Amino acid sequence: MTDSTLLHASVSHLRQLLKDRAVSSEELTEACLKQINATNEALNAIITVCPEQALESARAADSQLAKGESKSLTGIPLLHKDIFCTRGVRTTCGSRMLEQFVPAYDATVVSKMKAEGVVMLGKCNMDEFAMGSSNETSFFGTVKNPWDLSCVPGGSSGGSAAALATGMAPLVTGTDTGGSIRQPASLCGVTGLKPTYGRVSRLGIIAFASSLDQAGPMARTAEDCALALTAMAGMDDGDSTSANLPVPDFHGALNPNLQGLRIGLPREYFNDDLNADVRARVMAALSELEKAGASLIDIDLPHSHYAIATYYVIAPAEASANLARYDGVRFGYRCEQPSDLEDLYLRSRSEGFGEEVQRRILVGTYALSAGFYDAYFNKAQQVRRVITEDFRRAFEQVDVIAGPSAPGVAFPFGAKQQDPIAMYMEDIYTLAVNLAGLPGLSTPAGLINGMPVGLQLIGKPFDEQTILNAAHRLQIDTDWHTARPNLEAITS
Ligand code: GLN
Repeated sequence: MTDSTLLHASVSHLRQLLKDRAVSSEELTEACLKQINATNEALNAIITVCPEQALESARAADSQLAKGESKSLTGIPLLHKDIFCTRGVRTTCGSRMLEQFVPAYDATVVSKMKAEGVVMLGKCNMDEFAMGSSNETSFFGTVKNPWDLSCVPGGSSGGSAAALATGMAPLVTGTDTGGSIRQPASLCGVTGLKPTYGRVSRLGIIAFASSLDQAGPMARTAEDCALALTAMAGMDDGDSTSANLPVPDFHGALNPNLQGLRIGLPREYFNDDLNADVRARVMAALSELEKAGASLIDIDLPHSHYAIATYYVIAPAEASANLARYDGVRFGYRCEQPSDLEDLYLRSRSEGFGEEVQRRILVGTYALSAGFYDAYFNKAQQVRRVITEDFRRAFEQVDVIAGPSAPGVAFPFGAKQQDPIAMYMEDIYTLAVNLAGLPGLSTPAGLINGMPVGLQLIGKPFDEQTILNAAHRLQIDTDWHTARPNLEAITS
């Protein structure tokens, strides 16, 4: 088996190879570590690599496989976004504030996936505290897009998406507060799933905006995302917002028969602002679904244009509260020789947090201040309800809502960094899904001038299955998801 076959195989394929003993988890893990060594210097997708720990769990997985005692992901190498607490392994959240933070416990996602037998290779780079759409806010430097090194990989889970696209691991995790799984998946040509809010426990995920944050998988296929979702989902006593619902076997239940599926196309997404090339790719993907038996129906989400403004009140407000804990006293970065307590707070936070995080804290604190609370935060909550209602009404007519995942392909470094509003527009098609707590998925829909673009599929609450089915069918009928970047230029 050549390394390149292994490095581009899907999790489902690798599971079979491991089960048949055609490859060992140790060999597979070594191949991934070699790929990380060869490409990470150019890409900067990973902050921490754990080779010894990984090889040790790979050997343990091999002995389980030999005994025929494997679980759903036994021996599969994986990288976690560096927002998930990992016991004994540094967890930075892309920030100087947590540069030296070594958690004493695993996030529930991490422990659940461990229990399913994954081999953790390390932790992926990300925008600082998951705030950004380009990975340019990371304290650990930008991540390069493997399809074009002069472009961003998207964000905030850009390290995860770039690592996956490069073959560093067949499975990665991300979190999505406003688009951070779907947008980088789109820009790096991989499949990414944001589950319904509450489907996956948030315990041990460093909090950004608690009412929006949700963890999910990114992989090479929708089938792999289905496998990973079942492994990570479920009610957790440690997270009172996790849903008390049984976790289906999403993989076992995959059904590519789309006969009768009604797909809604929001007029507000397919308007004159939609880039013509993106529209062409998205429509090409949708016509494949139509050929497979789905029908396309025009729908309205009349309050869509309020999503960005609403999100950028609610998310910073929640972030300002969540980030208050980093005070330089209990844990995290502390400035040198503070002259008094106020100096300690002030300098620890000014030096520990980057510019975008500070901007969010300022906006959020303002929106929550006594004089403006009603005008901003309460108003945003009301609009959030109206946006959620739009989706509820649309789902009376259709089973799935489709649109682009991002307004364009990957853009050059620096192109949007000086203009926060231009950057915020990157999530114009994804944010509302978080505001409404719905599941959303991005699946590759071909290339525009050599750069990937994604189709977004949005589902009813807790109906991840239907969007996984549709993406699965698309991946049976087309080969867009198998396109890979040319890595010759970056492999050292
Ligand atoms: N780009 C959005 C933001 O900066 C969303 C980020 C996310 O989903 N974590 O807030």
